[in-house]
Amino acid sequence: MKSCLVVDDSKVIRRVARHILETLDFTVAEAGDGREALEHCTVSTPDVVLLDWNMPVMSGIEFLRALGTTPLPRRPKVVFCTTENSAGHIRAAIDAGADEYVMKPFDRETLESKMQIMGLA
Ligand SMILES: [Mg+2]
Repeated sequence: MKSCLVVDDSKVIRRVARHILETLDFTVAEAGDGREALEHCTVSTPDVVLLDWNMPVMSGIEFLRALGTTPLPRRPKVVFCTTENSAGHIRAAIDAGADEYVMKPFDRETLESKMQIMGLA
């Protein structure tokens, strides 16, 4: 089974994402901000991280940059989520190491196709 860490400060979004990912046969863990996510990755690196952009404590882009300098046994794939349809955000996230992105609100079909592109579904 593939593992996904859902990182979002919204409990509702985490719940929706968890439900979708579980129907795609992922084992799901959750984190409420980038720092929690980074701690999770150092203890148990998931196959993929679904990453919110705007979060307190440590944002999505800060998490990506920190992940890049953290020694891990392997690199998780990162799909970042944004509500802001900004080419600048997408560019910044890809430059910081994101593999894919999705626009919120995302649905099962969108997530499944992103996972397929990355070879995870
Ligand atoms: Mg947020």
